[in-house]
This record gives sequence, structure tokens and C-alpha cells, in this order.
Amino acid sequence: MNTFKADDRCCNCGRDYADHNYVENTLDQYRCPVQQYHSGYGGFYGGDPRLFSPGWEDATDEERENHRLACAAWDDAEAQGVTPKPEPCESGWQVIAGTNVHIFASQFGLGCYQIPIETFFEPLDAEREPWPWDEDDES
Ligand SMILES: [Zn+2]
Repeated sequence: MNTFKADDRCCNCGRDYADHNYVENTLDQYRCPVQQYHSGYGGFYGGDPRLFSPGWEDATDEERENHRLACAAWDDAEAQGVTPKPEPCESGWQVIAGTNVHIFASQFGLGCYQIPIETFFEPLDAEREPWPWDEDDES
């Protein structure tokens, strides 16, 4: 049994403990109510193309058009109530001349990506900086 209070703050999402949802079949995991993302710049990692934004200098016109078409297909599928099939990640391992090599490829060129990550309630350390929107910090 945990000892969290309803208004204990989460260091992953900034919300109160009471806003988190219990994950069934776990002892003490409570999913954050706000989707969190790992973000960066590079190739497309696969999945939802709308979580990728091709760069203007690092993607060709063809790659930007590939991206536009993939996003439109996802929007159309969802409008019809269909869950789209995740787009592939074209990077990966291959054996070339008996050597394992990692090949980088991105059908959408280089750009900004977001990867959804699952986060769970973790109490905010009292020693950390307060959240910028924390109304209690009016000193
Ligand atoms: Zn949280």
C-alpha cells in the first residue's frame, strides 16, 4: 500500500496523484493523465506519421510529399473509424558481406520526431524547482 496523498504532485506530468489512473494487474502503477513524448531531430521512427515533421532543409520535396500523403491517409482512416496501420521504420540492421550493419533510411527525410512514452505517477521531489504554473509559489 502506498502512502501518497491526493494532492501529491507527479514529477512526470505535474498533475496531482488523484488525477492518475490505476493500471490493472499492477501493484502500484498509476498512469499519467497527460501523454508524454520523447522528442528530437532525426529520421522517422515509424508509427503515426503525424508525430513527425520533415525539416525544410533536410527533406527533399519527394520526402515531404510522402509525408503529406501518409498523414492524409491516417486522417482519412481515422475519419472512417479505422485504426491506421503504423508506418514502417525504414532504418534497421542488415547483413552486408557477412557484417551486421545498421542502415539509416527515412521515407520522410530528416525532421522533428515525437515518440509517445508511457509515464506513471512518481512523487515530485520537494527539493526540485516548482512547476512554472504552480499557483502556490507566490513568494
Ligand atoms: Zn503523472
